[in-house]
Amino acid sequence: MNQTLEQLKEYLHKMRQYDHVLTLLSWDLSTLTPEKGVETRMSVIKFFSTEAFRLSTADEYGEMLKTLSEPEQFHTLDEPMQLTVKRYLRDYERFKRVPEEFYASYTEVKTRSERAWEKAKRAADFSQFAPHLEKVISMTKEYVHYMEPESGNLSGKNCAAEGTGSSENASRRDSYDVLLDMYEEGIDSATIDRVFGELKEGLLPLLKKIEESGRPDLSALEGTYDIEAQKKAQDMLLSYIGFDKDAGATAESEHPFTTDLCIGDVRLTNHYNESDPISAMFSAIHEGGHAIFGQNIDPAYRDTALEQVNMMGLHESQSRFYENILGRRRSFWVPIYEKLGELLPQFKEIPLDTFCCAVNDVHPSMIRTEADEVTYCLHIILRYELEKAIFRDDVPVDKLSQLWNDKMEELLGVRPQNDAEGILQDMHWSDGSFGYFPSYLLGSMYDGMFLEALEKEMGSVDTILEEGRIREITAWLNRKIHRYGSRYTSAEVLQRVCGKELSAQPLLDYFYKKYAQR
Ligand code: ZN
Repeated sequence: MNQTLEQLKEYLHKMRQYDHVLTLLSWDLSTLTPEKGVETRMSVIKFFSTEAFRLSTADEYGEMLKTLSEPEQFHTLDEPMQLTVKRYLRDYERFKRVPEEFYASYTEVKTRSERAWEKAKRAADFSQFAPHLEKVISMTKEYVHYMEPESGNLSGKNCAAEGTGSSENASRRDSYDVLLDMYEEGIDSATIDRVFGELKEGLLPLLKKIEESGRPDLSALEGTYDIEAQKKAQDMLLSYIGFDKDAGATAESEHPFTTDLCIGDVRLTNHYNESDPISAMFSAIHEGGHAIFGQNIDPAYRDTALEQVNMMGLHESQSRFYENILGRRRSFWVPIYEKLGELLPQFKEIPLDTFCCAVNDVHPSMIRTEADEVTYCLHIILRYELEKAIFRDDVPVDKLSQLWNDKMEELLGVRPQNDAEGILQDMHWSDGSFGYFPSYLLGSMYDGMFLEALEKEMGSVDTILEEGRIREITAWLNRKIHRYGSRYTSAEVLQRVCGKELSAQPLLDYFYKKYAQR
Protein backbone atom coordinates (compact mmCIF):
# COMPACT_ATOMS: atom_id res chain seq x y z
CA MET A 1 0.00 0.00 0.00
CA ASN A 2 1.28 3.45 -0.90
CA GLN A 3 1.14 5.37 2.33
CA THR A 4 1.63 8.83 0.81
CA LEU A 5 -1.18 8.14 -1.63
CA GLU A 6 -3.52 7.18 1.21
CA GLN A 7 -2.53 10.33 3.09
CA LEU A 8 -3.14 12.48 0.03
CA LYS A 9 -6.56 10.93 -0.54
CA GLU A 10 -7.53 11.67 3.02
CA TYR A 11 -6.22 15.21 2.68
CA LEU A 12 -8.10 15.81 -0.59
CA HIS A 13 -11.26 14.51 1.02
CA LYS A 14 -10.81 17.02 3.83
CA MET A 15 -10.25 19.84 1.33
CA ARG A 16 -13.39 18.78 -0.50
CA GLN A 17 -15.41 19.02 2.73
CA TYR A 18 -14.38 22.66 3.04
CA ASP A 19 -15.22 23.26 -0.62
CA HIS A 20 -18.63 21.73 -0.10
CA VAL A 21 -19.42 23.97 2.85
CA LEU A 22 -18.14 27.05 1.02
CA THR A 23 -20.15 26.28 -2.10
CA LEU A 24 -23.28 25.78 -0.05
CA LEU A 25 -22.73 29.03 1.84
CA SER A 26 -22.22 30.98 -1.41
CA TRP A 27 -25.29 29.37 -2.95
CA ASP A 28 -27.30 30.37 0.08
CA LEU A 29 -25.91 33.91 -0.03
CA SER A 30 -27.07 34.31 -3.64
CA THR A 31 -30.48 32.77 -3.17
CA LEU A 32 -32.00 32.83 0.30
CA THR A 33 -29.91 34.81 2.78
CA PRO A 34 -32.02 37.71 4.15
CA GLU A 35 -30.62 41.24 4.01
CA LYS A 36 -29.87 41.36 7.75
CA GLY A 37 -27.99 38.06 7.63
CA VAL A 38 -25.64 39.02 4.80
CA GLU A 39 -22.94 40.54 6.97
CA THR A 40 -22.62 37.43 9.18
CA ARG A 41 -22.80 35.10 6.20
CA MET A 42 -19.95 36.98 4.51
CA SER A 43 -17.77 36.68 7.59
CA VAL A 44 -18.46 32.94 7.83
CA ILE A 45 -17.50 32.58 4.17
CA LYS A 46 -14.31 34.55 4.82
CA PHE A 47 -13.45 32.25 7.73
CA PHE A 48 -13.87 29.04 5.73
CA SER A 49 -12.11 30.53 2.68
CA THR A 50 -9.08 31.33 4.77
CA GLU A 51 -9.03 27.81 6.19
CA ALA A 52 -9.39 26.33 2.71
CA PHE A 53 -6.58 28.56 1.37
CA ARG A 54 -4.34 27.39 4.23
CA LEU A 55 -5.05 23.77 3.41
CA SER A 56 -4.25 24.29 -0.26
CA THR A 57 -0.92 25.98 0.48
CA ALA A 58 0.22 23.91 3.49
CA ASP A 59 3.75 22.48 3.37
CA GLU A 60 2.59 18.94 4.22
CA TYR A 61 0.22 19.02 1.24
CA GLY A 62 3.02 20.21 -1.06
CA GLU A 63 5.29 17.45 0.25
CA MET A 64 2.71 14.74 -0.51
CA LEU A 65 2.22 16.06 -4.04
CA LYS A 66 5.97 16.29 -4.65
CA THR A 67 6.62 12.78 -3.33
CA LEU A 68 3.91 11.31 -5.54
CA SER A 69 5.17 13.19 -8.58
CA GLU A 70 8.59 11.47 -8.35
CA PRO A 71 8.82 9.15 -11.37
CA GLU A 72 8.98 5.86 -9.40
CA GLN A 73 5.83 6.77 -7.42
CA PHE A 74 4.03 8.58 -10.23
CA HIS A 75 4.01 5.52 -12.50
CA THR A 76 2.24 3.42 -9.90
CA LEU A 77 -0.77 5.79 -9.81
CA ASP A 78 -3.85 5.32 -11.96
CA GLU A 79 -4.55 7.96 -14.60
CA PRO A 80 -7.08 10.03 -12.62
CA MET A 81 -4.64 10.22 -9.71
CA GLN A 82 -1.71 11.08 -12.00
CA LEU A 83 -3.69 13.98 -13.44
CA THR A 84 -4.76 15.04 -9.96
CA VAL A 85 -1.18 15.11 -8.66
CA LYS A 86 0.06 16.94 -11.74
CA ARG A 87 -2.62 19.64 -11.69
CA TYR A 88 -2.70 20.18 -7.95
CA LEU A 89 1.08 20.40 -7.75
CA ARG A 90 1.03 23.05 -10.47
CA ASP A 91 -1.67 25.01 -8.59
CA TYR A 92 0.12 24.54 -5.30
CA GLU A 93 3.39 25.91 -6.66
CA ARG A 94 1.64 28.82 -8.31
CA PHE A 95 -0.24 29.87 -5.18
CA LYS A 96 2.76 29.31 -2.98
CA ARG A 97 4.63 31.98 -4.94
CA VAL A 98 1.95 34.60 -4.28
CA PRO A 99 2.82 36.52 -1.09
CA GLU A 100 0.00 36.33 1.42
CA GLU A 101 -0.03 40.10 1.92
CA PHE A 102 -0.31 40.73 -1.79
CA TYR A 103 -3.13 38.20 -2.09
CA ALA A 104 -5.08 39.85 0.71
CA SER A 105 -4.75 43.32 -0.73
CA TYR A 106 -5.56 42.07 -4.27
CA THR A 107 -8.75 40.50 -2.92
CA GLU A 108 -9.67 43.72 -1.18
CA VAL A 109 -8.97 45.88 -4.23
CA LYS A 110 -11.21 43.61 -6.30
CA THR A 111 -14.04 43.76 -3.78
CA ARG A 112 -13.85 47.55 -3.71
CA SER A 113 -13.65 47.70 -7.48
CA GLU A 114 -16.80 45.57 -7.81
CA ARG A 115 -18.70 48.01 -5.62
CA ALA A 116 -17.32 50.97 -7.57
CA TRP A 117 -18.37 49.30 -10.80
CA GLU A 118 -21.95 48.84 -9.57
CA LYS A 119 -22.16 52.52 -8.67
CA ALA A 120 -20.51 53.71 -11.86
CA LYS A 121 -22.85 51.53 -13.92
CA ARG A 122 -25.87 53.05 -12.19
CA ALA A 123 -24.49 56.50 -12.95
CA ALA A 124 -23.45 55.43 -16.48
CA ASP A 125 -20.11 57.08 -15.79
CA PHE A 126 -16.91 55.21 -16.60
CA SER A 127 -14.67 57.89 -15.06
CA GLN A 128 -15.89 56.83 -11.58
CA PHE A 129 -14.74 53.28 -12.20
CA ALA A 130 -11.54 53.98 -14.18
CA PRO A 131 -9.14 54.44 -11.24
CA HIS A 132 -10.34 51.14 -9.73
CA LEU A 133 -10.00 49.35 -13.03
CA GLU A 134 -6.50 50.70 -13.43
CA LYS A 135 -5.55 49.27 -10.05
CA VAL A 136 -7.16 45.89 -10.78
CA ILE A 137 -5.31 45.67 -14.10
CA SER A 138 -1.92 46.47 -12.61
CA MET A 139 -2.47 44.05 -9.71
CA THR A 140 -3.68 41.32 -12.06
CA LYS A 141 -0.45 41.72 -14.04
CA GLU A 142 1.48 41.45 -10.79
CA TYR A 143 -0.55 38.42 -9.69
CA VAL A 144 0.22 36.62 -12.95
CA HIS A 145 3.86 37.53 -12.56
CA TYR A 146 3.95 35.92 -9.12
CA MET A 147 2.29 32.77 -10.38
CA GLU A 148 4.53 32.52 -13.43
CA PRO A 149 7.63 34.59 -12.78
CA GLU A 150 8.91 34.01 -16.30
CA SER A 151 5.85 35.52 -17.92
CA GLY A 152 5.65 39.15 -18.91
CA ASN A 153 4.71 41.50 -21.64
CA LEU A 154 6.16 39.96 -24.77
CA SER A 155 4.49 42.27 -27.25
CA GLY A 156 6.31 42.36 -30.54
CA LYS A 157 8.21 39.15 -29.86
CA ASN A 158 5.41 36.90 -31.06
CA CYS A 159 6.43 34.12 -28.70
CA ALA A 160 2.84 33.07 -28.17
CA ALA A 161 2.61 31.89 -31.75
CA GLU A 162 4.96 29.03 -30.96
CA GLY A 163 3.37 28.08 -27.66
CA THR A 164 0.63 25.52 -27.17
CA GLY A 165 -0.18 26.67 -23.66
CA SER A 166 1.31 23.50 -22.24
CA SER A 167 3.58 23.70 -19.25
CA GLU A 168 6.68 23.13 -21.38
CA ASN A 169 6.07 26.54 -22.91
CA ALA A 170 4.92 28.14 -19.70
CA SER A 171 8.16 30.00 -19.22
CA ARG A 172 7.69 31.88 -22.49
CA ARG A 173 4.06 32.90 -22.23
CA ASP A 174 2.98 36.49 -21.86
CA SER A 175 0.64 37.48 -19.08
CA TYR A 176 -2.53 37.46 -21.18
CA ASP A 177 -1.81 33.92 -22.33
CA VAL A 178 -1.42 32.86 -18.69
CA LEU A 179 -4.84 34.34 -17.95
CA LEU A 180 -6.48 32.65 -20.94
CA ASP A 181 -5.03 29.31 -19.86
CA MET A 182 -6.48 29.77 -16.37
CA TYR A 183 -10.02 29.65 -17.75
CA GLU A 184 -9.45 27.22 -20.61
CA GLU A 185 -6.44 25.00 -20.11
CA GLY A 186 -4.26 24.68 -23.18
CA ILE A 187 -5.67 27.65 -25.10
CA ASP A 188 -3.52 30.60 -26.14
CA SER A 189 -3.98 33.85 -28.00
CA ALA A 190 -2.36 32.52 -31.19
CA THR A 191 -5.12 29.90 -31.46
CA ILE A 192 -7.83 32.39 -30.55
CA ASP A 193 -6.53 34.95 -33.05
CA ARG A 194 -6.83 32.32 -35.76
CA VAL A 195 -10.36 31.09 -34.99
CA PHE A 196 -11.87 34.44 -33.99
CA GLY A 197 -10.38 35.91 -37.18
CA GLU A 198 -12.05 33.19 -39.29
CA LEU A 199 -15.31 33.75 -37.53
CA LYS A 200 -15.27 37.53 -37.85
CA GLU A 201 -14.56 37.31 -41.56
CA GLY A 202 -17.45 34.92 -42.07
CA LEU A 203 -19.94 36.64 -39.80
CA LEU A 204 -19.79 40.26 -40.95
CA PRO A 205 -21.21 39.58 -44.45
CA LEU A 206 -23.79 37.16 -43.01
CA LEU A 207 -24.99 39.75 -40.52
CA LYS A 208 -25.39 42.30 -43.31
CA LYS A 209 -27.52 39.83 -45.23
CA ILE A 210 -29.69 39.02 -42.23
CA GLU A 211 -30.23 42.70 -41.52
CA GLU A 212 -31.39 43.33 -45.07
CA SER A 213 -34.15 40.77 -44.63
CA GLY A 214 -35.80 42.90 -41.91
CA ARG A 215 -37.12 42.02 -38.45
CA PRO A 216 -40.17 39.90 -37.56
CA ASP A 217 -43.31 41.32 -35.94
CA LEU A 218 -43.25 40.04 -32.36
CA SER A 219 -46.22 41.95 -30.93
CA ALA A 220 -48.13 38.66 -30.46
CA LEU A 221 -45.81 37.83 -27.56
CA GLU A 222 -46.52 40.97 -25.57
CA GLY A 223 -48.36 40.40 -22.31
CA THR A 224 -48.04 39.50 -18.64
CA TYR A 225 -46.92 36.00 -17.77
CA ASP A 226 -47.50 34.56 -14.32
CA ILE A 227 -44.21 33.83 -12.50
CA GLU A 228 -45.43 30.61 -10.86
CA ALA A 229 -46.52 29.35 -14.28
CA GLN A 230 -43.08 30.29 -15.67
CA LYS A 231 -41.49 28.16 -12.94
CA LYS A 232 -43.65 25.19 -13.95
CA ALA A 233 -42.61 25.69 -17.57
CA GLN A 234 -38.99 25.72 -16.39
CA ASP A 235 -39.43 22.39 -14.55
CA MET A 236 -41.00 20.88 -17.64
CA LEU A 237 -38.13 22.07 -19.84
CA LEU A 238 -35.47 20.85 -17.42
CA SER A 239 -36.86 17.36 -17.18
CA TYR A 240 -37.42 17.30 -20.96
CA ILE A 241 -33.71 17.87 -21.67
CA GLY A 242 -32.58 15.36 -19.04
CA PHE A 243 -31.91 17.30 -15.82
CA ASP A 244 -32.18 14.84 -12.92
CA LYS A 245 -34.24 16.59 -10.27
CA ASP A 246 -33.28 13.94 -7.71
CA ALA A 247 -29.67 15.07 -8.13
CA GLY A 248 -30.29 18.80 -8.19
CA ALA A 249 -32.37 21.74 -7.06
CA THR A 250 -33.52 25.09 -8.41
CA ALA A 251 -33.90 28.54 -6.85
CA GLU A 252 -34.18 32.21 -7.73
CA SER A 253 -31.31 34.72 -7.88
CA GLU A 254 -30.47 38.07 -9.46
CA HIS A 255 -28.48 36.43 -12.28
CA PRO A 256 -28.95 32.79 -13.29
CA PHE A 257 -26.06 30.46 -12.44
CA THR A 258 -25.26 26.80 -11.77
CA THR A 259 -23.22 25.44 -8.92
CA ASP A 260 -21.89 21.91 -8.36
CA LEU A 261 -21.90 20.75 -4.75
CA CYS A 262 -21.19 17.18 -5.79
CA ILE A 263 -22.24 14.83 -8.58
CA GLY A 264 -25.48 14.05 -6.75
CA ASP A 265 -26.30 17.69 -5.97
CA VAL A 266 -26.02 20.21 -8.80
CA ARG A 267 -28.07 23.37 -8.36
CA LEU A 268 -29.22 26.03 -10.74
CA THR A 269 -30.93 29.37 -10.39
CA ASN A 270 -33.07 31.50 -12.62
CA HIS A 271 -34.45 35.02 -12.77
CA TYR A 272 -38.03 35.69 -13.87
CA ASN A 273 -39.61 38.63 -15.62
CA GLU A 274 -43.39 38.99 -15.92
CA SER A 275 -43.24 40.54 -19.37
CA ASP A 276 -40.56 38.26 -20.83
CA PRO A 277 -41.08 34.51 -20.27
CA ILE A 278 -38.69 33.60 -23.08
CA SER A 279 -35.67 34.95 -21.22
CA ALA A 280 -36.29 32.65 -18.21
CA MET A 281 -37.02 29.67 -20.48
CA PHE A 282 -33.71 29.99 -22.30
CA SER A 283 -31.82 30.68 -19.08
CA ALA A 284 -33.30 27.45 -17.70
CA ILE A 285 -32.20 25.51 -20.79
CA HIS A 286 -28.72 27.10 -20.58
CA GLU A 287 -28.20 26.42 -16.88
CA GLY A 288 -29.78 23.00 -17.36
CA GLY A 289 -26.98 22.22 -19.83
CA HIS A 290 -24.33 23.16 -17.26
CA ALA A 291 -26.14 21.08 -14.63
CA ILE A 292 -26.50 17.98 -16.82
CA PHE A 293 -22.71 18.09 -17.34
CA GLY A 294 -22.12 18.19 -13.57
CA GLN A 295 -24.63 15.45 -12.81
CA ASN A 296 -23.11 12.98 -15.23
CA ILE A 297 -19.43 13.01 -14.31
CA ASP A 298 -18.16 9.51 -13.49
CA PRO A 299 -18.65 8.99 -9.71
CA ALA A 300 -15.29 7.19 -9.67
CA TYR A 301 -13.68 10.65 -10.01
CA ARG A 302 -14.98 11.77 -6.63
CA ASP A 303 -12.35 13.70 -4.63
CA THR A 304 -9.98 13.88 -7.61
CA ALA A 305 -9.19 16.91 -9.78
CA LEU A 306 -11.26 15.31 -12.57
CA GLU A 307 -14.62 16.01 -10.96
CA GLN A 308 -13.89 19.75 -11.06
CA VAL A 309 -14.40 21.14 -14.52
CA ASN A 310 -12.61 24.48 -14.50
CA MET A 311 -12.44 24.62 -18.29
CA MET A 312 -15.00 27.32 -18.85
CA GLY A 313 -15.08 26.94 -22.63
CA LEU A 314 -15.94 23.27 -22.39
CA HIS A 315 -18.56 23.93 -19.72
CA GLU A 316 -20.05 26.77 -21.72
CA SER A 317 -20.16 24.54 -24.80
CA GLN A 318 -22.58 22.25 -22.98
CA SER A 319 -24.95 24.97 -21.77
CA ARG A 320 -24.90 26.70 -25.13
CA PHE A 321 -25.45 23.45 -27.00
CA TYR A 322 -28.80 23.03 -25.26
CA GLU A 323 -29.65 26.73 -25.37
CA ASN A 324 -28.73 27.54 -28.97
CA ILE A 325 -27.98 24.49 -31.07
CA LEU A 326 -31.00 22.56 -29.76
CA GLY A 327 -33.26 25.10 -28.00
CA ARG A 328 -33.53 27.58 -30.87
CA ARG A 329 -34.70 24.95 -33.36
CA ARG A 330 -38.36 24.62 -34.26
CA SER A 331 -37.97 20.85 -33.89
CA PHE A 332 -36.97 21.22 -30.23
CA TRP A 333 -40.39 22.66 -29.43
CA VAL A 334 -42.58 20.43 -31.63
CA PRO A 335 -43.06 17.67 -28.99
CA ILE A 336 -43.64 20.11 -26.09
CA TYR A 337 -45.26 23.23 -27.50
CA GLU A 338 -48.76 22.10 -26.64
CA LYS A 339 -47.67 21.32 -23.09
CA LEU A 340 -46.11 24.79 -22.87
CA GLY A 341 -49.51 26.21 -23.81
CA GLU A 342 -51.11 24.30 -20.97
CA LEU A 343 -48.65 25.78 -18.48
CA LEU A 344 -48.56 29.29 -19.96
CA PRO A 345 -51.99 29.72 -21.62
CA GLN A 346 -50.92 32.75 -23.69
CA PHE A 347 -48.80 30.41 -25.79
CA LYS A 348 -51.95 28.72 -27.06
CA GLU A 349 -52.58 31.91 -29.05
CA ILE A 350 -49.03 32.21 -30.35
CA PRO A 351 -48.27 30.05 -33.39
CA LEU A 352 -45.09 27.98 -33.04
CA ASP A 353 -43.61 29.72 -36.09
CA THR A 354 -44.04 33.14 -34.48
CA PHE A 355 -42.40 31.87 -31.31
CA CYS A 356 -39.48 30.51 -33.36
CA CYS A 357 -39.06 33.85 -35.16
CA ALA A 358 -38.89 35.53 -31.75
CA VAL A 359 -36.16 33.26 -30.41
CA ASN A 360 -34.12 33.63 -33.61
CA ASP A 361 -34.47 37.36 -34.10
CA VAL A 362 -30.98 38.45 -35.12
CA HIS A 363 -30.11 42.14 -34.88
CA PRO A 364 -27.19 44.21 -33.54
CA SER A 365 -27.74 45.49 -30.02
CA MET A 366 -25.72 46.98 -27.18
CA ILE A 367 -25.95 44.37 -24.42
CA ARG A 368 -24.06 41.07 -24.66
CA THR A 369 -26.30 39.08 -22.35
CA GLU A 370 -29.38 39.99 -24.38
CA ALA A 371 -27.77 39.38 -27.76
CA ASP A 372 -28.91 36.72 -30.26
CA GLU A 373 -26.62 33.79 -31.03
CA VAL A 374 -25.04 35.43 -34.13
CA THR A 375 -24.22 38.93 -32.89
CA TYR A 376 -23.19 37.46 -29.53
CA CYS A 377 -19.98 36.25 -31.20
CA LEU A 378 -19.04 39.81 -32.14
CA HIS A 379 -19.65 41.03 -28.59
CA ILE A 380 -17.04 38.52 -27.41
CA ILE A 381 -14.56 39.33 -30.18
CA LEU A 382 -14.78 42.99 -29.11
CA ARG A 383 -13.94 42.11 -25.50
CA TYR A 384 -11.10 39.83 -26.55
CA GLU A 385 -9.54 42.54 -28.71
CA LEU A 386 -9.78 45.04 -25.87
CA GLU A 387 -8.26 42.64 -23.34
CA LYS A 388 -5.32 42.12 -25.66
CA ALA A 389 -4.97 45.89 -26.00
CA ILE A 390 -4.93 46.18 -22.19
CA PHE A 391 -2.45 43.41 -21.49
CA ARG A 392 -0.27 43.52 -24.55
CA ASP A 393 -0.29 47.11 -25.76
CA ASP A 394 -0.77 48.72 -22.34
CA VAL A 395 -3.56 50.95 -23.66
CA PRO A 396 -4.33 53.59 -21.01
CA VAL A 397 -7.52 52.97 -19.05
CA ASP A 398 -8.99 56.39 -19.86
CA LYS A 399 -8.99 55.48 -23.56
CA LEU A 400 -10.97 52.26 -23.07
CA SER A 401 -14.49 53.67 -23.12
CA GLN A 402 -13.99 55.34 -26.48
CA LEU A 403 -12.18 52.31 -27.83
CA TRP A 404 -15.14 50.16 -26.79
CA ASN A 405 -17.61 52.43 -28.58
CA ASP A 406 -15.46 52.59 -31.72
CA LYS A 407 -15.24 48.81 -31.83
CA MET A 408 -18.99 48.46 -31.36
CA GLU A 409 -19.46 50.64 -34.40
CA GLU A 410 -16.86 48.75 -36.39
CA LEU A 411 -18.22 45.27 -35.56
CA LEU A 412 -21.94 45.77 -34.97
CA GLY A 413 -22.71 49.12 -36.57
CA VAL A 414 -24.21 50.58 -33.39
CA ARG A 415 -22.72 53.06 -30.94
CA PRO A 416 -23.52 53.06 -27.19
CA GLN A 417 -25.10 56.29 -26.00
CA ASN A 418 -23.58 55.97 -22.55
CA ASP A 419 -21.08 53.81 -20.59
CA ALA A 420 -23.81 51.72 -18.93
CA GLU A 421 -24.72 50.24 -22.28
CA GLY A 422 -21.06 50.28 -23.29
CA ILE A 423 -17.96 49.39 -21.31
CA LEU A 424 -19.71 49.20 -17.93
CA GLN A 425 -22.26 46.52 -18.85
CA ASP A 426 -20.32 43.44 -17.66
CA MET A 427 -18.89 42.83 -14.20
CA HIS A 428 -16.00 40.57 -15.32
CA TRP A 429 -13.26 43.21 -15.40
CA SER A 430 -14.26 44.69 -12.06
CA ASP A 431 -13.23 41.48 -10.28
CA GLY A 432 -10.17 40.80 -12.39
CA SER A 433 -11.63 38.03 -14.56
CA PHE A 434 -9.59 38.98 -17.61
CA GLY A 435 -9.33 36.12 -20.10
CA TYR A 436 -12.74 34.73 -19.17
CA PHE A 437 -14.80 36.25 -22.03
CA PRO A 438 -13.26 34.21 -24.87
CA SER A 439 -14.44 30.98 -23.23
CA TYR A 440 -18.08 31.80 -24.11
CA LEU A 441 -17.28 31.96 -27.79
CA LEU A 442 -14.89 29.01 -27.70
CA GLY A 443 -17.83 27.06 -26.27
CA SER A 444 -19.98 28.01 -29.26
CA MET A 445 -17.24 26.97 -31.66
CA TYR A 446 -16.92 23.59 -29.96
CA ASP A 447 -20.69 23.31 -30.37
CA GLY A 448 -20.47 23.73 -34.12
CA MET A 449 -18.00 20.85 -34.13
CA PHE A 450 -20.02 18.68 -31.72
CA LEU A 451 -23.13 19.19 -33.85
CA GLU A 452 -21.25 18.03 -36.94
CA ALA A 453 -19.98 14.91 -35.11
CA LEU A 454 -23.38 14.15 -33.61
CA GLU A 455 -25.21 14.33 -36.96
CA LYS A 456 -22.55 12.17 -38.58
CA GLU A 457 -23.21 9.46 -36.01
CA MET A 458 -26.90 9.82 -35.29
CA GLY A 459 -28.40 11.50 -38.34
CA SER A 460 -30.42 14.71 -38.50
CA VAL A 461 -30.81 16.48 -35.17
CA ASP A 462 -34.14 17.88 -36.38
CA THR A 463 -35.50 14.37 -36.90
CA ILE A 464 -34.34 13.23 -33.46
CA LEU A 465 -35.87 16.29 -31.82
CA GLU A 466 -39.14 16.19 -33.74
CA GLU A 467 -39.60 12.59 -32.68
CA GLY A 468 -39.17 13.61 -29.04
CA ARG A 469 -35.92 11.70 -28.64
CA ILE A 470 -33.87 14.54 -27.13
CA ARG A 471 -32.75 12.24 -24.31
CA GLU A 472 -30.76 10.29 -26.90
CA ILE A 473 -28.78 13.45 -27.59
CA THR A 474 -28.25 13.94 -23.87
CA ALA A 475 -27.08 10.33 -23.60
CA TRP A 476 -24.62 10.94 -26.47
CA LEU A 477 -23.21 14.03 -24.69
CA ASN A 478 -23.04 12.08 -21.40
CA ARG A 479 -21.12 9.30 -23.07
CA LYS A 480 -18.77 11.43 -25.17
CA ILE A 481 -18.13 14.41 -22.91
CA HIS A 482 -19.80 14.66 -19.49
CA ARG A 483 -18.64 11.43 -17.87
CA TYR A 484 -14.98 12.38 -18.26
CA GLY A 485 -15.28 15.59 -16.23
CA SER A 486 -11.99 17.42 -16.74
CA ARG A 487 -9.98 14.31 -17.58
CA TYR A 488 -9.30 15.70 -21.06
CA THR A 489 -8.54 19.26 -22.08
CA SER A 490 -10.95 20.84 -24.53
CA ALA A 491 -8.49 20.29 -27.38
CA GLU A 492 -8.33 16.59 -26.44
CA VAL A 493 -12.12 16.38 -26.23
CA LEU A 494 -12.38 17.86 -29.74
CA GLN A 495 -9.90 15.28 -31.02
CA ARG A 496 -11.71 12.40 -29.32
CA VAL A 497 -15.24 13.45 -30.30
CA CYS A 498 -14.68 15.18 -33.64
CA GLY A 499 -11.28 13.88 -34.74
CA LYS A 500 -9.94 17.36 -35.49
CA GLU A 501 -8.54 20.51 -34.02
CA LEU A 502 -10.49 23.66 -33.23
CA SER A 503 -11.96 25.44 -36.22
CA ALA A 504 -14.57 28.17 -36.66
CA GLN A 505 -15.89 26.61 -39.89
CA PRO A 506 -18.51 24.24 -38.38
CA LEU A 507 -20.08 27.08 -36.39
CA LEU A 508 -20.10 29.26 -39.51
CA ASP A 509 -21.69 26.41 -41.48
CA TYR A 510 -24.38 26.12 -38.81
CA PHE A 511 -25.09 29.87 -38.96
CA TYR A 512 -25.14 29.99 -42.77
CA LYS A 513 -27.41 26.97 -43.04
CA LYS A 514 -29.81 28.51 -40.55
CA TYR A 515 -29.80 32.18 -41.51
CA ALA A 516 -28.42 32.72 -45.01
CA GLN A 517 -31.59 31.80 -46.90
CA ARG A 518 -34.03 33.78 -44.82
ZN1 ZN B 1 -23.09 29.55 -18.82
